[in-house]
Amino acid sequence: MRWENLTEETGPGRAGTALFGADVVTTRTFDTPEFRGITFHEVRARSIINRVPGASRMPFEWTVNPYRGCSHACVYCFARKTHSYLDLDTGIGFDSQIVVKVNAPELLRRQLGSRRWLGDHIAMGTNVDCYQRAEGRYRLMPGIISALTEHANPFSILTKGTLILRDLDLLRRAADVTDIGISVSVGFVDPELWRTVEPGTPAPERRLDVVRALAEAGIGCGVLMAPVIPFLGDHPAQLRATVRAIAAAGATSVTPLVLHLRPGAREWFMSWLAAHHPHLVRRYERLYAEGAYAPKWYQRRITRQVHELAQEYGIGPNRGGTPRRIPVPAAAEEPALPEPTQLTLL
Ligand code: SF4
Repeated sequence: MRWENLTEETGPGRAGTALFGADVVTTRTFDTPEFRGITFHEVRARSIINRVPGASRMPFEWTVNPYRGCSHACVYCFARKTHSYLDLDTGIGFDSQIVVKVNAPELLRRQLGSRRWLGDHIAMGTNVDCYQRAEGRYRLMPGIISALTEHANPFSILTKGTLILRDLDLLRRAADVTDIGISVSVGFVDPELWRTVEPGTPAPERRLDVVRALAEAGIGCGVLMAPVIPFLGDHPAQLRATVRAIAAAGATSVTPLVLHLRPGAREWFMSWLAAHHPHLVRRYERLYAEGAYAPKWYQRRITRQVHELAQEYGIGPNRGGTPRRIPVPAAAEEPALPEPTQLTLL
């Protein structure tokens, strides 16, 4: 593995810095069912606040990522490519070789206290999930949230992990002194699709329980409805079931995002597709013929459908903190799903 000379985005006032040296890597495995087959590489990072490259489409400038790799193992994960920078495999290796920056909280506290740091918003969970399973053992997030709270530094967290509820009191305290934003990612509520495409994540219903618990605690929580997966999760009835469940959980907003397939994720996703839904391979090749993103017309169509449903179910910030009583029909009452959506241009 290539630990030396590894650089990440720049930190405050720094040029690209080596993240860690070979002498500070400790490799561990744990013989408990939840960590079976996973190898942890504990490193002492040299920088923890990273600047997002200027050309990025992301709406934030600074991130903190205490982990690399993610045992949530989403087949489509766009962060897979980053494992190749460590000479690690972007498929199974990304799911099972987890880099842990064990000094993240102390390093963050130090960097937040630097005169060079201007107190900008910090986004977490934007590369890999900071509440993945490893966090249950390493407990880095409590120290990170505490450091941000001490410095009244605004921050946001995006996660699929129910473990975030462990830190509810810390989040409440942070919300008293600074702006915080929490989003949970739920692209669909179809259990079959979940089991195959997001095999290491908590079920969508459990993630929506997180939204509900945060709302009840007075912490507004949005849902990133991502990814909407073409032909597998984009039927109008599926979109409706998902938005209805999101509304019922008390989400303050819903933001749809269509699947994108960048290099690293694309190969892994397409091999999964060939194994599970071979009849869709040609259609995907056409839909993503131009590159990593689905065509604009398709993205617009999904966005419009989701926004209309959100309006119908009354999702909006004015309802934040008050979970609505929207009845979610039992599975048997759901309308039967016809074949996956046919796209007229394909
Ligand atoms: S939870 Fe997020 S970071 Fe983890 S594998 Fe899934 S998409 Fe990637």
